[in-house]
Amino acid sequence: MTSSSPPGGEGRDRRRLFGIDLLHHPRYNKGTAFTEAERDALGLRGLLPPHVFSLEEQAARSLRNFKAKPSPLEQYIFLTALQDRNEVLFYRILVDHIAEMMPIIYTPTVGEACREFGHIFRRPRGLYVSATDRGRVRSLLRNWPEKKVSVIVVTDGERILGLGDLGALGMGIPIGKLSLYTACAGIAPSECLPVLIDVGTDTDALRNDPLYTGLVQRRVRGAAYRELLDEFVAAVEEVFPGALLQFEDFATENALELLDRYRHRLCTFNDDIQGTAAVTLAGLFSACRLTGAPFETQRILFYGAGAAATGIADLLTTALVRSGLSPAEARRRCWFFDSRGLVVASRSGLAPHKLRYAHEHPPADDLLSAVGTLRPTAMLGVSAQPQAFTQPVLAKLAESNPRPIVFALSNPTSKAECTAEQAYRWTGGRAIFASGSPSAAVEWEGIRFVPGQGNNAYIFPGLGLGLVVAGATRVSDGMFYAAAETLAGLVSEDSLRQGSVYPPLDSIRSVSANIAVAVARVAAAEGLATTILPDDLGRYVRSRMYEPTYQAFVPG
Ligand code: NAD
Repeated sequence: MTSSSPPGGEGRDRRRLFGIDLLHHPRYNKGTAFTEAERDALGLRGLLPPHVFSLEEQAARSLRNFKAKPSPLEQYIFLTALQDRNEVLFYRILVDHIAEMMPIIYTPTVGEACREFGHIFRRPRGLYVSATDRGRVRSLLRNWPEKKVSVIVVTDGERILGLGDLGALGMGIPIGKLSLYTACAGIAPSECLPVLIDVGTDTDALRNDPLYTGLVQRRVRGAAYRELLDEFVAAVEEVFPGALLQFEDFATENALELLDRYRHRLCTFNDDIQGTAAVTLAGLFSACRLTGAPFETQRILFYGAGAAATGIADLLTTALVRSGLSPAEARRRCWFFDSRGLVVASRSGLAPHKLRYAHEHPPADDLLSAVGTLRPTAMLGVSAQPQAFTQPVLAKLAESNPRPIVFALSNPTSKAECTAEQAYRWTGGRAIFASGSPSAAVEWEGIRFVPGQGNNAYIFPGLGLGLVVAGATRVSDGMFYAAAETLAGLVSEDSLRQGSVYPPLDSIRSVSANIAVAVARVAAAEGLATTILPDDLGRYVRSRMYEPTYQAFVPG
């Protein structure tokens, strides 16, 4: 979508707006940037202070106000209010300051914002589908004001980041993710739909909070839950055919089951499982450039065996098979360690998703001995257990690896398995480290490390753009592999030298465009595209990206 071609219907809406209604419409409001001619033609004279400002001047003022806020949560509230008031200005400052603002609109601050969502609630955004809406979900979706929707992000709020069941307060997550779709990959805001499926919450404190915004009941589970989800998915297919449906922050069992249920039916993926996998695989590809060891020699120990671990291990297996290993050999390179110890074949009662990584091996119930016997080349923390990578554990890992790979991916920061500083210190400065939430640069014995962030935002916006451009009917493993390979290929030698296995976040729009091209090509090659891709795909993709600039209402 170019800025000169607003999506269907927008032009008509825009022409109908006048006077104070226009100032109150966040999509079209320009505030003090309405020109003299527009003020005359649109009934705005007197409703605005006389000085006409440019978008750049407005952005400078907003940035100043943003920086003056005393806490990240206050900054989140400020940005939300701006998004509600003037969408172009919100996206202008977000695009231009993405590295600084992403931690505010997304992890880690969005976690705190979700917790406080009921208390800081000012104005609704997104669509709520609740357990009481059985039988009318289609008509509810039709209440959404936009007719063209390209990307939907849905959560049921049960596993928000590493924070657990936040019920309806989880709406902050789809809102934040979709803001990133727009900022990072230029999916037009009008084409983004955040959805919260509210089936209640099992968090007592929320049900007892008089300001809680969701259904005050325990979670609906079992058949009734599945039927609501089925009805929702069918409604999406009917009301917004072809839209990409991204599942986000569902509890592990539901996440895995719903992915299996719908992935062969429509264009859908689960970001916690598959997006995480692709960003982590990219990080491992880059880490191999630093260690010099071939990718197919890696042995990975996962600390945590949930949705993220399963997704990463599955994609890693695909990648190792592409590197020449047999599927059985590839799976044997992935080891899970969960709350009951090492996942081994002799353990009883293992969840189905762990079985393919339950190898023949003596049990181990402490991480240190597992590291000692397995001698992994990399440890991936996806457990939401803070400080699990202790000094002895990392020192042991460093014993058998000149450059141990340590990814402490659990979010938010307070849940990370170790900090960047600990990883460098406890491995004698040899760790190749990445975290889930942003980490500041670290000075260690005169060396400056700039740790990379294994942020899913490197993958999902570009993936989504590629799917939209191709009109893809399904999301395949090949697309995630291509996204990971593309991302890793964009890491400069300079970034690697500083210890970062990802490109700088500032380059995210270009990263997304590259990923979109790769994904659209895979869609075409796999027969999953419904549009014919032009020869100059890179240029075409860039031309489809929304740019936050003001449209002229009247000439002059
Ligand atoms: P999940 O609930 O599905 O899995 C958590 C796993 O940790 C479970 O297997 C559980 O058994 C295990 N665990 C719990 N306590 C443990 C203990 N004491 N020792 C060992 N294992 C233990 O959650 P998930 O979706 O897999 O996410 C896990 C974490 O990863 C979260 O903090 C999430 O924010 C983070 N995550 C990060 C990224 C990223 O950085 N890109 C992406 C997705 C998820």
